[in-house]
Amino acid sequence: MKKVGFFRSIHLKFVLIYVLLILIAMQIIGVYFVSKVERQLVDNFSTSLQERIQLLAYSIEQEIKKPRDDTTPKLEEDIRTVLQDITMEDISEVRVIDNKSKVLGTSDPYNQARMVGKRTTELSIKRALVVGSPSEKIAIDPNTGYRMQLIVAPIKTNSQEIIGAIYLEASMEDVYGQMRQINSIFTTGTILALAVTAVLGILLAQTITRPMSDMRKQALEMARGNFSRKVNIYGNDEIGQLALSFNNLTKKLQEAQATTEGERRKLSSVLSHMTDGVIATDRKGRIILINEPALGMINVSRETVLQKPIVEVLGIDESHTFESLVSEQESIILDFSLEDKPLILRASNSIIQKETGFINGLITVLHDITEQEKIDHERREFVANVSHELRTPLTTMRSYLEALAEGAWKDKEIAPKFLDVTQTETERMIRLVNDLLQLSKMDSRDYRFNKTSVEFIEFFNKVIDRFELSKSQKVTFVRDLPNQEVFVSLDGDKITQVLDNIISNAMKYSPEGGTITFSVHIEETNQILVSISDQGVGIPKADLNKVFERFYRVDKARTRMLGGTGLGLAIAKEMINAHDGDIWASSQEGKGTKIFFTLPITQVEQEDEWS
Ligand code: ADP
Repeated sequence: MKKVGFFRSIHLKFVLIYVLLILIAMQIIGVYFVSKVERQLVDNFSTSLQERIQLLAYSIEQEIKKPRDDTTPKLEEDIRTVLQDITMEDISEVRVIDNKSKVLGTSDPYNQARMVGKRTTELSIKRALVVGSPSEKIAIDPNTGYRMQLIVAPIKTNSQEIIGAIYLEASMEDVYGQMRQINSIFTTGTILALAVTAVLGILLAQTITRPMSDMRKQALEMARGNFSRKVNIYGNDEIGQLALSFNNLTKKLQEAQATTEGERRKLSSVLSHMTDGVIATDRKGRIILINEPALGMINVSRETVLQKPIVEVLGIDESHTFESLVSEQESIILDFSLEDKPLILRASNSIIQKETGFINGLITVLHDITEQEKIDHERREFVANVSHELRTPLTTMRSYLEALAEGAWKDKEIAPKFLDVTQTETERMIRLVNDLLQLSKMDSRDYRFNKTSVEFIEFFNKVIDRFELSKSQKVTFVRDLPNQEVFVSLDGDKITQVLDNIISNAMKYSPEGGTITFSVHIEETNQILVSISDQGVGIPKADLNKVFERFYRVDKARTRMLGGTGLGLAIAKEMINAHDGDIWASSQEGKGTKIFFTLPITQVEQEDEWS
């Protein structure tokens, strides 16, 4: 935040307010006081003039009334004598006029000759002579520019007869000089008062502005996340209490922030450690939060998706808009499969809503349902396969039985053949159902193996011997077995079944006169590697892993003809895996197939007497 300039500061405003208040107060007092003083001075001045005029009027009246003859001086001379006594600084001229408007005398020596004996034309004098009332006015002396008090007073006898008038001009300069002095004292006083107020104002304002500026700094620091500062408390007034509340607020905020931070950390740890992906958006559908699992699932970096619309990032902008996600809130299945890695996600949406109902955003939880989908798919496929596998022998049987029922049973040649076919198909169905039962037993968790420590080479030889004795084909068996005893912990019945499946396959697909090689190797990894290879049709490379899947057959028509169920290798795989071993196949198309499996060794006898 910008620093507050001095001219905009509250400090200056306080000082200005103080100074203005004092100025206004001084002005009001000044105007009232000066006008009062001025009126008082002027009143005093005119009262003193009036008093002197009255004295003078009395003297003049005496002079006028005085009986005169040739021996006595003339009236004008007596009046001049009276007027000469009036020596006052402020009175500039006094004229005496008789009742016929003739000037009898003047105190101004320069006007003696010009005025005495002449008739005056002054209107106010004439009015005074006629009406008998005094008049007062203020005029400006054209020569000096001073204010003059002009007083005209009638001279009356005791019987109220007007016998003349006195005209007096007095300079008011003294009065106004005093007024100027008073004004200047007042102005100096005001300036002094203002200066003192300004200084005091600055000091006093500081007591308010300093805590405020402290609080401002504190607020700025708080905005930056620093809660360690405290505001100084200078007193217990309102500002002091404000500072105290401010400090309390800081503490509360700090606690609230710590709580929020703690919650945020918890949330982020929960989000990053959960296996589901979580995406949160703002109210416009732009991503504001995305956790690591979500980033991994949709294979993007956080920087590229933040603030991007969720519908675009999840690639659902064609089927859904953000608004439809918000209103429907149903889960959507998204396919993020790559060429080598299938990935099916279920996006469940829920909205973030305020108490008022205002929608703040959307939370999308991405759940990896690839495995579930795969299992569902496999289950559907399994049911379809089982139905298909059962339908084929059943339809064959139905058609043969229909033929028999329609009369073929009478035919001695065809009837046994047809019966033979139905018997073969029934056996195949029994085999299939048995295999299925075996698989389903193994799928159930409580399936138990009856493991014992078995000397594997002897065990293997016995199985091969059984096949060698019962074989009807012309195939040669070659045994490449070590001359030592190897003990393996196994369930004899189950591993016999595995070997039966593999060997019968090898024999099934072996050509006439082919060789089947049985070998056992003791591996350094403390396990035996068993392999059974034939010189048959082989398995295409693409199908090598798939032959261990349920119902998978490379050449469906052919294997069915050979009586296979497509479950033999799947069962073998389950069993080998349950013995902590591995099973796989290698093949060269047209040249032969080799099936390998491993089993962990429990003990090896180094003696090689056995052959
Ligand atoms: P099946 O009962 O049909 O033989 P398996 O699970 O035992 O079922 O075998 C699966 C498929 O693998 C067979 O249908 C066959 O196509 C192929 N297969 C298995 N063993 C061999 C082999 N030795 N030579 C060629 N193909 C084989």
